[in-house]
Amino acid sequence: MEYDFIVVGSGSVGAAAGYYATRAGLRVLMIDAAHPPHKQGSHHGTTRLMRHAYGEGEYYVPLVLRAQQLWRELQAHCSEPVFDKTGVLNLGPADSSFLATVAHSASRWSLPLERLDAAQLRQRWGQISVPDNYIGLYEPDAGVLYSEKAVETWIRLAREAGCAQLFNCPVSAINTGDGGVAVTTPEGEYRARKLLLSAGTWVKTLYPRLPVTPVRKVFAWYQGDGRFATTNHFPAFTAELPDGSQFYGFPAENDALKTGKHNGGQVISRPEQRVPFGQHPGDGAEAFPLLRQILPGIGGCLFGEACTYDNTPDGNFIVDTLPGIPEAMVITGLSGHGFKFASVLGEIACQFACGQPSGFDLAPFRLDRPALRAAC
Ligand SMILES: Cc1cc2nc3c(=O)[nH]c(=O)nc-3n(C[C@H](O)[C@H](O)[C@H](O)COP(=O)(O)OP(=O)(O)OC[C@H]3O[C@@H](n4cnc5c(N)ncnc54)[C@H](O)[C@@H]3O)c2cc1C
Repeated sequence: MEYDFIVVGSGSVGAAAGYYATRAGLRVLMIDAAHPPHKQGSHHGTTRLMRHAYGEGEYYVPLVLRAQQLWRELQAHCSEPVFDKTGVLNLGPADSSFLATVAHSASRWSLPLERLDAAQLRQRWGQISVPDNYIGLYEPDAGVLYSEKAVETWIRLAREAGCAQLFNCPVSAINTGDGGVAVTTPEGEYRARKLLLSAGTWVKTLYPRLPVTPVRKVFAWYQGDGRFATTNHFPAFTAELPDGSQFYGFPAENDALKTGKHNGGQVISRPEQRVPFGQHPGDGAEAFPLLRQILPGIGGCLFGEACTYDNTPDGNFIVDTLPGIPEAMVITGLSGHGFKFASVLGEIACQFACGQPSGFDLAPFRLDRPALRAAC
């Protein structure tokens, strides 16, 4: 049977794409090497930040606002929370360039954003300790996404809508010809008119020329009582320390506050190098600078996990067609900040499969942008 659309990698973006394309009336085959949601990719660990006033670049804002609408729609299909509007507090030195871009994004797109100086921060959240030169930019409409719940829901909805799903089945090659695309798997070859390559960290095993570097990352849960919970209006947060290191974190749930460091990590080249939390020196101590300086009331490490970022040289996504294969779209290189966009990226992939242009400016995400040209 020939499909309209094959999704190679049905994790965050692929699960959304499979659902939207099936709902659009296409004959879709979703394939994955594992059975999403799972812990081998980049979407596990329960939660992801959803920020709107985007510090990585204001050109992300139209995408993130559409993503938020789609998250709301998804919530209607799920009895458990997919998105929780906890608010997100961005903390850092007053001259932080990340915070400057957050403020610029909010003003350019008229997003609600509160600016607090150090004294106002300490007054509003007594649990937070900041130096006098710090500010906080608080986004009341931002919050927390439940990543595995979202992936599970998209996969269920796609299946119920009639999508074919082939899991625990790695794709070993993508070939083109006869006006379509074919994939090779242990179960045989499958063909379609269009294809999405959304294989996350290990995308280069299928298309080696992509400028994507796998990086092992860890995050962990620390003892944090009700003062750090949403019931006490404690928000999700990003925090830049005086040495420039960037952390993120979530309100405590069941007396455990999850946090991780955004920069750093270990560059790896094979999946088995992503050793579990605790097996790399420094895993357990990575968050101590944040906890000592900003959240002194948080206690010891309870448990942690390892995950992977798929980094591009400039930290921006790759959303393009594969060079020489115009029937294949690639969405990858999400560089540790892509989950919040999974919904809208899935919708963009669906439009590609339907032969419709995307209404978004995707130029910053092209493979031939200057920052990637040298690396390709
Ligand atoms: C520790 C950590 C914290 C993060 N925090 C945030 C955050 O707060 N906010 C945010 O927005 N983002 C965050 N991210 C980033 C976000 O989670 C990722 O960008 C996103 O999940 C990546 O989606 P993806 O679809 O590219 O990859 P995945 O969800 O990993 O999906 C890729 C899929 O491809 C499959 N696959 C791989 N190879 C093959 C093959 N050969 N054949 C078939 N299938 C294959 C895999 O099994 C997997 O299911 C974080 C990431 C990490 C690791």
